Amino acid sequence: MATTWDELLERNKKYAETEHKPQPYLSEGPSLPPFIIFSCIDIRVPVERFLNIQTEEAFIVRNAGGRVKNSINDLLFLDTFTQGKGLTTVIVIHHTDCGYTHNTDEGIKDGLKARVPNHAHEIRQLEFNCIGTPEKLEESVREDLRYLKTHHLVRRELADNAKGYVWDIKTGKLSPIGYEG
Ligand SMILES: [Zn+2]
Repeated sequence: MATTWDELLERNKKYAETEHKPQPYLSEGPSLPPFIIFSCIDIRVPVERFLNIQTEEAFIVRNAGGRVKNSINDLLFLDTFTQGKGLTTVIVIHHTDCGYTHNTDEGIKDGLKARVPNHAHEIRQLEFNCIGTPEKLEESVREDLRYLKTHHLVRRELADNAKGYVWDIKTGKLSPIGYEG
């Protein structure tokens, strides 16, 4: 495992020299994938690997917890920029033992406040959308689906096609989470 940024810069040099193929500009009309997948930043959650996809086969939005609300602008941007012609399917994937299930917004805010007490007011306004407890994992997927499906700026087709899953970090399997509108 790389331990310094300089090591990674070295790797980049090698990559650029040996394996990089020039990518098309947007003006050259690269083909765009139909999927946008929300998933967690957790290093144990290798979305490309467990779906066996290449980088160009899906837009993958990663944030803590894989919370849709925290990155909804990415979906709105992509879908508007591509004039509603690229995306067809939104996928939400949360995972077992997620750090977000072991933390609450209050806990994170308390931690921040302890470090920078002068900014208590600003910290109070922050929204992390932590899941809170492992028992709420499935509910958090439903919550994100509800958020998508009832968001008045999300295109209907996308909202209707949104699907949610829990990915098990031990078995590697995705389990669908039912959603009743
Ligand atoms: Zn996570």
